[in-house]
Amino acid sequence: MKKEVIVLNCGSSSVKFAIIDADTGVAGLSGIAESLGNSDASLSYKLNGEKSKQRLGEKAGHTEALNAIQEIIAKTGVKPIAIGHRVVHGGEKFKQAALVNEDVLSAIEAYASMAPLHNMANLKGIVTAQMAYPDLPHVAGFDTSFFQSMPQKAFIYALPIELYKEHGIRRYGFHGTSHKFILDSTAGLLNKPVSQTSIISAHLGNGCSVSAIEQGEAVDTSLGFTPLEGLVMGTRCGDLDPSLPGTLQKKLGKTADEINDLLNKQSGLLGISALSNDCRTLEDEALKGHEGAQLAIEIFCYRLAKYISGYMVSVPSLDAIVFTGGIGENSSLIRETTMGYFKHFGITVDEQKNLEARFGKGGEISTSSSTTSVFVVPTNEEWVIAAEAAEFA
Ligand code: ADP
Repeated sequence: MKKEVIVLNCGSSSVKFAIIDADTGVAGLSGIAESLGNSDASLSYKLNGEKSKQRLGEKAGHTEALNAIQEIIAKTGVKPIAIGHRVVHGGEKFKQAALVNEDVLSAIEAYASMAPLHNMANLKGIVTAQMAYPDLPHVAGFDTSFFQSMPQKAFIYALPIELYKEHGIRRYGFHGTSHKFILDSTAGLLNKPVSQTSIISAHLGNGCSVSAIEQGEAVDTSLGFTPLEGLVMGTRCGDLDPSLPGTLQKKLGKTADEINDLLNKQSGLLGISALSNDCRTLEDEALKGHEGAQLAIEIFCYRLAKYISGYMVSVPSLDAIVFTGGIGENSSLIRETTMGYFKHFGITVDEQKNLEARFGKGGEISTSSSTTSVFVVPTNEEWVIAAEAAEFA
């Protein structure tokens, strides 16, 4: 019997959904309800390869979206065995996925102070889905749990230690489900047990992170207390001089929230290029000579290369450097520019293999003489959540 699992990812104004075969990772159904709470709320989905779109009612919210999703799922005739919910913040409590009960719900709510928009939306999604599917096990998979293996030297900031002990101020890391998937897949490609596989994985999408994984365990990662630290991202700035937010607040006469918005939504590739956060647009325009686009790509790759090289000290048994996410899986330019910094480490990328690795086609892109392998591996975060949820069915 197929082990089919509903995977839900409830954001503040959207619900992403899929039915995933927990053994193969194949999605028979996938879709998104968007603009929830607005007049143009809509739902689009792909069922066995065929696309459909429907409008939701005026100002439809999460409940209306989940009702519509439930109807679509009912029409497929699939009998799901569990529901996996993506939850952003699991604090220090959740080192793996958890069967949802009152305790788990309270913890997700408590961690909302650290990820207010995300955790409250995730919670709403779980509670609504529990009403729609009261007889199925609901399982929460956390973005942070994969990083709970990090040592203190990697997750404690150089701040007064009480801030960690009393307020939980530390690096948590995010994108854990993707990095876990990349680890498992790369172990398969290398034909090694996961527990003996060591990689540096770069998840490059709208949000971007690099993780250091030694012998199957995360030992460092670039996203921090929030998903703002580290790499240059689509609209997020990544690392900054920590005095800058305060300075900008005074200089521009803005509030702390406005500066937070500037760092999260108006910075990164978009901010530097003053053009777009979309890597495809930037690549096209850079080719035509747009200086902002060229600079944004240059800074993006340089920061990424610095992080990857920094994590070489964290991963002494390094087997491979792996690229994933919309940019990592598709942009041969970003991979080539980034890996260009590693020539003097003896790590080299094959031009042709690099060009061919895109649109879901992954594989090894390093040359046969490269001292470390470089791979492109398409991610499948939903599969991780589905597989974890299926274990509770
Ligand atoms: P999210 O983090 O929202 O899941 P994705 O992983 O889908 O995002 O990545 C989105 C990014 O991937 C965008 O910057 C987009 O431009 C980039 N991308 C997608 N396809 C390509 C491509 N063919 N070439 C370059 N960049 C691409």
